[in-house]
Amino acid sequence: MTTSQNNPFLEVCNHLKKSAAKLNLNESITKKLLLPDNIRNETLKVRTENGLEELDAYRIQYNNARGPYKGGIRFHPAADESEVTALAATMSVKCAVVNIPFGGAKGGVILDPKQYSEKDLENISRAYVQSFLPYLGVDVDIPAPDVYTTPQIMAWMLDEFEKATGASAPAFITGKPIALGGSLGRDTATAQGSVYVLDEYLKLTKQNTGTLRVAIQGFGNAGATVAKLLAAKGMLIISVADSQSTITNEQGLDVIALEKHKQTGKTLKEFKSTNEEDIHGDPESVLYSECDVLIPAALDSVITGENAHKITTKVILELANNPVSGAAEVLLIEKGIDVLPDVLVNAGGVVVSYYEWVQNRQQWYWDEETVKARLEAKMCKAFDEVLAKKESSMSYRDAAYELGVERLATAIKLRGNF
Ligand code: NAD
Repeated sequence: MTTSQNNPFLEVCNHLKKSAAKLNLNESITKKLLLPDNIRNETLKVRTENGLEELDAYRIQYNNARGPYKGGIRFHPAADESEVTALAATMSVKCAVVNIPFGGAKGGVILDPKQYSEKDLENISRAYVQSFLPYLGVDVDIPAPDVYTTPQIMAWMLDEFEKATGASAPAFITGKPIALGGSLGRDTATAQGSVYVLDEYLKLTKQNTGTLRVAIQGFGNAGATVAKLLAAKGMLIISVADSQSTITNEQGLDVIALEKHKQTGKTLKEFKSTNEEDIHGDPESVLYSECDVLIPAALDSVITGENAHKITTKVILELANNPVSGAAEVLLIEKGIDVLPDVLVNAGGVVVSYYEWVQNRQQWYWDEETVKARLEAKMCKAFDEVLAKKESSMSYRDAAYELGVERLATAIKLRGNF
């Protein structure tokens, strides 16, 4: 039996239904909110070092009422239809929460990228674009990086798209290298955006930044960057994890050394620390650290009804998409733990992707200070707007969904094509 516990899309549908009921949306608009516009599923036929392989790939175009479809592409063994559809629905709400003129989409290829060479990954990236070519485009559907996809992968995809269409089209994809029209500040945008949200929350709850202890699950683009940004603000990063292990130091980890180590392609398990107080543990143990701020920055559904009782943080900052299940959130709120939701917290990535798209279309590039200032203004405004929706008994997620769903429903209603 499929339950929301093992179906991430059903989890997102529960949030959408709750908001639709609160907003008194009629049945046809509610139905439109709960169904993706298009489920694109292709088999990529790719020659790799293992021979000719067939890989299952998705592009889920969830909703484009507010603008072209927008969302990253994930290379991961679990990137199946339910996971990618959940991510595409989340993108639709997220773009509305931060009020940028994009709809929501997401892509995935089911594979373990660690099993493939650089050349294989290039061939897979090019095959993805070839397979979904009729459905992608600057004003149609704009991809970006996600888990285990990188600026280099965006560069190969852009090259394949431009070769196929015969025209320069940097706005086709975001998260590109700067040399191909990427935006300054895009690499740090997701983490930086979440720091602006955390700052606003700490101001609201009158907490002193300097004394906070932070644990982070995931040490990739989002997780490693947020670790550096928060350490620079004086917070103690006491525990971080990648897919292989957790590393903990109650006195604070040297996150710069850890990031340098990860950049060599090694895992945290292979980190040979000079500090005797660094302790290695299993990857899941990071979630149960005694900390003030817990940041899931890896995969979805990591905090569920089964393990929520072991969480001891004061606030969860959802840098990953859909990391906390609905059942878990009920238990966390009962324990007095605030959950700052993905559709607000990690929206900085798509905000700067939007700025990248604008710069590409204008052929006019902004300096990093401008990007950061505009990102900060956007994130703080969205935080204030979520807060304005939040009634005293409401979770931050319900308030954020209400804001996003209201904007989405307004656009759907105006179009009248449902
Ligand atoms: P990434 O590929 O750069 O990093 C993923 C990290 O997660 C790696 O360090 C990996 O080792 C770790 N990981 C994987 N499985 C794990 C496990 N079981 N336990 C602990 N760690 C594990 O990906 P990213 O871009 O940093 O994305 C991370 C999360 O942030 C995803 O949920 C993604 O959807 C979300 N996100 C990313 C962006 C962005 O711009 N990169 C934007 C919005 C949301």
